[in-house]
Amino acid sequence: MNTMKSALVLVFLLAAQLTFAQTKPEETEVWEPEPEKVTFNNGVPSDAMILFNGEGLSAWESESGDTPGWTVSDGVLTVKPQTGVIQTKEKFGDVQLHVEWRSPTEITGEGQGRGNSGVFLSGRYEVQVLDSYNNRTYSNGQASSIYKQYIPYVNATKAPGEWQVYDIIFVAPEFDDAGNVTEPARITVFHNGVLVQYDRELKGTTAYIGQPEYEAHGDSPLVLQDHGNPVSYRNIWVRKLDLRE
Ligand code: MG
Repeated sequence: MNTMKSALVLVFLLAAQLTFAQTKPEETEVWEPEPEKVTFNNGVPSDAMILFNGEGLSAWESESGDTPGWTVSDGVLTVKPQTGVIQTKEKFGDVQLHVEWRSPTEITGEGQGRGNSGVFLSGRYEVQVLDSYNNRTYSNGQASSIYKQYIPYVNATKAPGEWQVYDIIFVAPEFDDAGNVTEPARITVFHNGVLVQYDRELKGTTAYIGQPEYEAHGDSPLVLQDHGNPVSYRNIWVRKLDLRE
């Protein structure tokens, strides 16, 4: 009897194995396309466009197209207050953007007046740069906020004088022929490696007063803000992406 039972179990197991054997692991392997290989030079991926690596501002211009008035010293780019924003000569749509910034060591001002600058995607949508280390302001205006639109999940700000990192993924908006937005812009932000904004759907162009509204645009420069404070930048690179399929 035991032999009979064992034989039945064996038959069952063999049958089960035959059923599963009809699918081979190879049948779900996809080999094409093969992702392009990226190498690294001082941490910068080989498919990135370097916007500032400490050696001058050839990738940048003033709003009027002139040489930027900001200062470059010891490989560091610093806002020269009242000289205006700087913008890339190149225009971008969807991007991955890496920006390192530093609040002034000498602490002056309060709230929005302390270490204020900003990174504008498509020249319109501001990821706030602010000394938010020990400086309360409205939450949707602190460091790594999407200015006046989204509060960061946490405050990952480092002390004034310490270098900080923004890694931003920006999906540019799309518009119809009449200029109405059909696909809003989306932003994800890591602040010092910490996720602070995930796939946020933007409500329109950053507005200081009133509600944000969209205005139709195509590829546009990246812009760094002069808000009157000597905020510094270094190691800025961007990867052009195409995130809408
Ligand atoms: Mg700002």
